[in-house]
Amino acid sequence: MRSITVVGASLAGLSTVRALRAEGYDGEIVVVGEERHTPYDRPPLSKGFLKGDIDVEELALGDADEYEVLDVQWLLGECAVRLDPVARTVTLAGGRHVRTEGVVIATGASPRTLPGTDGLAGVHTLRTLDDARALRAELLDGLPRVVVIGAGFIGAEVASTAHRLGLHVTVVEALPVPLERQLGREMGLVVSSLHSDHGVQLLCGTGVAELIGEDRVTGVRLADGRVLPADIVVAGVGVRPNTDWLAGSGVQVDDGVVCDSGCSTGIPGVVAVGDVARCPNPFTWRHARIEHWSNATEQAKTAARTLLTGVSVPAPLSAPYFWSDQYRSRIQVAGYVAPGAEPEVVEGDVDSRIFTAVYRREGTPVAVLSLNQPKFFNRLRRTLVPAAAAVAS
Ligand SMILES: Cc1cc2nc3c(=O)[nH]c(=O)nc-3n(C[C@H](O)[C@H](O)[C@H](O)COP(=O)(O)OP(=O)(O)OC[C@H]3O[C@@H](n4cnc5c(N)ncnc54)[C@H](O)[C@@H]3O)c2cc1C
Repeated sequence: MRSITVVGASLAGLSTVRALRAEGYDGEIVVVGEERHTPYDRPPLSKGFLKGDIDVEELALGDADEYEVLDVQWLLGECAVRLDPVARTVTLAGGRHVRTEGVVIATGASPRTLPGTDGLAGVHTLRTLDDARALRAELLDGLPRVVVIGAGFIGAEVASTAHRLGLHVTVVEALPVPLERQLGREMGLVVSSLHSDHGVQLLCGTGVAELIGEDRVTGVRLADGRVLPADIVVAGVGVRPNTDWLAGSGVQVDDGVVCDSGCSTGIPGVVAVGDVARCPNPFTWRHARIEHWSNATEQAKTAARTLLTGVSVPAPLSAPYFWSDQYRSRIQVAGYVAPGAEPEVVEGDVDSRIFTAVYRREGTPVAVLSLNQPKFFNRLRRTLVPAAAAVAS
């Protein structure tokens, strides 16, 4: 293989470029990225960067010296609109065709928006640096009343940051228990109580009927009729994978790019990696998109090997891992909270907000959750066993 095109110039794309070079590939690499920026780190966008503690330079994932060594042709501010695996071309929005032998799909995901809010000032989603800059400008401007819709991890981090900036924050969650899908009911309640611990109002079990405002948002009408006054609204209501550009390519798309455990799409020379890739996962016991920072970096090595060898090489077994920083607390989760897995606090206690819980299924540890106990967490995450093995045992 003498030419590879990576579509998506972010964590997964850059990590795959690094892995390709580390494997000894010395052919041409083109990286196509819709954003105008070279790859940057997204986790600080809802944390230190949003609060104004971190500058944009500190977000960079690579530097000029590394980029020189990686020897990549960057096509930034360019959107791929078509993949033709037979002709071996990636077509860009301007009509240019990039001829290539190998393709890495690393196009990540985009936030879902609230219907009918296009063009309404003061309404935000948060995925990109440009999103974060726009939201940060308004938060730092001191507009006092912030309503966050969605109490998932991104919504919770934005709420925490806005609260730390001294703003009045309300979080609205449609589900009765936030984070239930990720942490189960019991620990979802514990972790989401960080909001009320800090005086942030959390309204659960209610949807949003509409946003109020002519040119700029002034309030949020809830499904139960209540109206929350708002100067800024942030929607953290999930994402959808960026796969539209693959229509007609033959690449199988179903809530992401469907891959095997070696990141192969089944089309020779086409792999997928990061938030967009839906691979079989021994921990989730099914195909899953793992939207975590560490997954994007680890999967990249697998994708690079598969692309270069032409043989799908399964990823080494590793428990999914992510962290979240909220209200000066560090939340860490490893493994997968499978349905029926029960948490047991094995160190600390939930009231102090310093504890570690192990989730067991059929007696086998399948996930670990820690609040503010990183050392203990790291020790226990190594003991995790895939959900499939737990069921088999
Ligand atoms: C605000 C925020 C905070 C986060 N915090 C944490 C955290 O604390 N812990 C954690 O584990 N994870 C966190 N994450 C998740 C982590 O950042 C993601 O898992 C990671 O960014 C995934 O990388 P990716 O390269 O797969 O996708 P992305 O980072 O989404 O990058 C995909 C890139 O592809 C580009 N693209 C899309 N379509 C096209 C196209 N057709 N043509 C060209 N380019 C295209 C996009 O513009 C984008 O630049 C956070 C994410 C966000 C948004």
